[in-house]
Amino acid sequence: MAFKDIIGQKKAINILLGTVARNRIPSAYLFAGESGIGKKLTAINLAKTLNCLKPKTPIDCCDECTSCKKIDSQTHTDFLMAAPEKGEIRVDEIRMIEEVISLAPYEGKRKAVIVDDAETMNPSAANAFLKTLEEPPPQSIIILISASPDRLPETIRSRCSRINFSPLAPEQCKEVIRAIDNQDTEITDSQLSTLSRLSMGRPGLAISSDLIEERDWFFNLFGEMSGGRNKETWADKEEMELWFNKAFMLLRDITVLKITGKSDMLINTDLEDRFAEMSKAIEMKDIIDIYGKLSFLKGYLGFNLNKSITWNYVTIIMQNLKLKNGVT
Ligand SMILES: [Zn+2]
Repeated sequence: MAFKDIIGQKKAINILLGTVARNRIPSAYLFAGESGIGKKLTAINLAKTLNCLKPKTPIDCCDECTSCKKIDSQTHTDFLMAAPEKGEIRVDEIRMIEEVISLAPYEGKRKAVIVDDAETMNPSAANAFLKTLEEPPPQSIIILISASPDRLPETIRSRCSRINFSPLAPEQCKEVIRAIDNQDTEITDSQLSTLSRLSMGRPGLAISSDLIEERDWFFNLFGEMSGGRNKETWADKEEMELWFNKAFMLLRDITVLKITGKSDMLINTDLEDRFAEMSKAIEMKDIIDIYGKLSFLKGYLGFNLNKSITWNYVTIIMQNLKLKNGVT
């Protein structure tokens, strides 16, 4: 894949290619925006373009030379992709990055390091990384990727050139899902439409996970919570975050039905009847109240919120809602 093949993100890519055209490439970028919208794909394509042996005009990589292929397969000696292990980027990983970029490019033109989920750097990793950013080695580029850039220390953010990525339009979402899902399975138009809506502008999520299965999982858990049936708690932080995101989607659809009565504006159009019932049962002031409480809690997810306490608190909110409004 080359820049020309990336669906959506035209604004971000134009800004990026503008810096390449003027040869004003900063030593570090921060690609900010939600998960599954093409940040990593864009970062890989930047590394490919800067090292391509047969670059194209307008600026793009050829996607065919040995350099492009090696970066795609992560076997290029001047390219490194770092990502959290067990939810955290540790100082050892940062030391490896330092080591890689401190040397002159070996086979390419520019050393490129991508740090995925950069906000997961623990404090000592962030400190070590700050030193690298303060004295960037020549002929190197670091691209931080983050869906929660506010969780990165200000000292790191201020040393990066930030590029914002936005969720994709529904038609672009469908295009991405269709392009990826092409060969093996015959996806129907109605499935495509459901997946595109559930991904909420983040087609990468529809590709990397089963969104319908995730939604079923959420509704089961939601039923257990509001019914007072006991489940221990969320398995981990990721599951906790996923639950909150699904809960916001649920509140969003109930609100849309309550205010507009239009089912074609729902994310979960295929569950229209179920949502219609819920929207009748719950009062607007209760939706606002729950939204406020859940948003408050979600804001603390990055700060190691205690799972059991949060689970109990959220369960109480759900049970009160059921007692008051009879929501199932
Ligand atoms: Zn190439």
